[in-house]
Amino acid sequence: MFRLSLAATSMAVLAACGQPAQQTAAPEAAAPPAATAPAEGQVLNVYSARHYDSDKALYAKFEADTGIKVNVRESGAPELLETMKAEGEASPADVIIVSDAGALYRFQSEGFTQGVRSDALEAAIPAQLREKDGHWFGLAKRARVIVYDPQLLPAEEVDTYADLAEDRLKGELCVRSSTNIYNLSLLGEFISRNGSEAAEAWAKGVASNFARPPEGGDSAQIEAVAAGQCAAAIVNHYYWVRLATGTTEERMTAAKTSVSFPDQTENGTHINITGAAVSSTSRAPELAVRFIEFLATPEGQTMLTAETKEFPIVAGAPNPEGLEILPGFKQSDFPLSELGAYQAEAQAIFDRAGWN
Ligand code: FE
Repeated sequence: MFRLSLAATSMAVLAACGQPAQQTAAPEAAAPPAATAPAEGQVLNVYSARHYDSDKALYAKFEADTGIKVNVRESGAPELLETMKAEGEASPADVIIVSDAGALYRFQSEGFTQGVRSDALEAAIPAQLREKDGHWFGLAKRARVIVYDPQLLPAEEVDTYADLAEDRLKGELCVRSSTNIYNLSLLGEFISRNGSEAAEAWAKGVASNFARPPEGGDSAQIEAVAAGQCAAAIVNHYYWVRLATGTTEERMTAAKTSVSFPDQTENGTHINITGAAVSSTSRAPELAVRFIEFLATPEGQTMLTAETKEFPIVAGAPNPEGLEILPGFKQSDFPLSELGAYQAEAQAIFDRAGWN
């Protein structure tokens, strides 16, 4: 069914180019449609670990613009990976959208992504934020920051990641579990830059400063700082921005805390991405690329970040409302496709450090 519509489309393209349409073209030999070809009747299956209403509007806009029907399966990244393992080569997934380069690496290392070329994506997305062979593309950016209680700590005591391992913060830190990919990626960059020994010393120092065993997500860490359970926490920036732009109660929570972008005089703050990959099982990789290219337009970027409060990646895309409350900051230039190589070691270090 799908191949028939593809063949019909490409024949129309050939005819439009003034070449004779082949009467007996085999569907298998059909060239992919040009990026601007109409795509009525075609379907794109998106496996997404995101769960935002704004994404529904994003899919609807792509459908309206292209005539391509978007089916979405939403679940956590680990669950989507398990689903794809169960489905194997029969997986209907065309596009995989998950947060954190470390999570994308897991899909890639299990063989569920394929390398694709796109001049538009390569031009729009900095090389640091995409996989070198096109296995995934960063589409929105996040920074791993320190949220702290300015009544308890001067800013200069929490302006580096190294500060968090200092004895003076004994009993003052809240951080989520090390099994979370955000912490694995943060430590991955640390291992790459400073070596395994220094990374383990840092992880042990941080773990010895915990105010409580790791529990809850990033938002829960900010709430714990605001409630006085700890003086500082490691979180992704957007959790704080959502609180700071949220309900009256949420804004009061955020107002009790400040944000530090660590390592401004060092390598810059650790950043990561939400990204998309073309599934290795996709029967329509050219449609999948077209969809990811849409996400990398200023319009797609705006819809992708409006609710999440991530940073757009593509030049010309405006920041979502609320991000103006954060200062500009120096970002780490660490190439995110190198993070995956350190994932297993990062987990082993956290385990040894007692950062559960
Ligand atoms: Fe998150």
